[in-house]
Amino acid sequence: MSFADELGAWPRARVIDAIECARPEDVEAALMRSPRKINDLCALLSPHAQAFLEPMAHEARRLTRWHFGRTIGMYVPLYISNICGADCVYCGYAVRSGNKEKRLNLNSDEIRTECATLAAEGFQNVLLLTGEARRAAPVEYIAEAVAIAREFFPSVSVEVYALEEDEYRLLCQRGLEGVTLYMETYDQTIYKAVHVKGEKTNYGYRLAAIERAGRAGARRLNIGALLGLGDWRVDGFWTALHARYLQKACWQSAVSVSFPRLLHTPARFAIPHLVTEAELVQLMLALRLFLPEAGFNLSTRERAGFRDHLIPLGITMMSAGSSTRPGGYASHISETLEQFAIEDRRPPAEVAQAIRAKGYEPVWKDFDYAFDEAPGAQGQAHNHMGELRT
Ligand code: SF4
Repeated sequence: MSFADELGAWPRARVIDAIECARPEDVEAALMRSPRKINDLCALLSPHAQAFLEPMAHEARRLTRWHFGRTIGMYVPLYISNICGADCVYCGYAVRSGNKEKRLNLNSDEIRTECATLAAEGFQNVLLLTGEARRAAPVEYIAEAVAIAREFFPSVSVEVYALEEDEYRLLCQRGLEGVTLYMETYDQTIYKAVHVKGEKTNYGYRLAAIERAGRAGARRLNIGALLGLGDWRVDGFWTALHARYLQKACWQSAVSVSFPRLLHTPARFAIPHLVTEAELVQLMLALRLFLPEAGFNLSTRERAGFRDHLIPLGITMMSAGSSTRPGGYASHISETLEQFAIEDRRPPAEVAQAIRAKGYEPVWKDFDYAFDEAPGAQGQAHNHMGELRT
């Protein structure tokens, strides 16, 4: 059964019904059960679960420490292109966003310079991003960027337009480890309304893309819904369903979930279902209890104090010191267009310190890669670890 089939068995009305029918005793039962079932997830996402956030947080902390220890992985996004032919109405890169700042691809030298700057800050895990521009930023360009990034980082992931399986395979051959691909919303009606131009309008093609990446050999698969487009409880449910499906279908890959929350959008788009911080906490706790082995990523979209508060509640990876424009770290390319404004502007070392203050260890390098075949990157990894910890 494909994920599209599985999703088809859970239409919006059924999900809402299952969540609304949950009673307080169902939440209590969900807290006690292991492993948790779909009905437990519905109970934990329900309004009644708001009265149980304390025990949910306690269980989330326990599960996260059991599976991941007291560590938070550090990563950094690197935008290599801001050219985009799609029109996603919530995005600053959209072709009709009205934004006029410069759009470009970084060239090889610029990518190297950005990578060197980030590696010198200690990062060993980088996420390369583009818009949707198959002609301006073709797969070969992305593959070259992956190969360059591998000169500096043991772990390279991409967040780019949806690809064919062979294209993902090409990136893996150049050293790619992970793929991030957000469905944005699993609600087909909303999806159609907010994606009005470009390949991304093809809902089914995007829905199946992350599984293609897994089949092609990507060892880390990261999904998420853009919180604010639809009802967070319903999109949260579908995201959890997708993650559990991928854990089985792509069992050789580690599956993780991100929680990107819309806070800043272009002037033409008002956020239809603004998600509060309390709601985001409930979503994260519910998903942690349902998906104890999934990594949870948190970006700098959220404000510093809130990010710090979330550290013990299930987060396993955090970005830091982020820029959402090409050349934003070292290339000094003036006024390139940024995708969205970030909230947490602390430098990486300060974020690392905040993690330590919570009793967790910031991890810059995944030690799996001590055995990887990129000796140059390994050497640098150890050097940067040394620099940071002295
Ligand atoms: S979300 Fe991605 S595809 Fe859509 S406009 Fe933004 S960069 Fe382009």
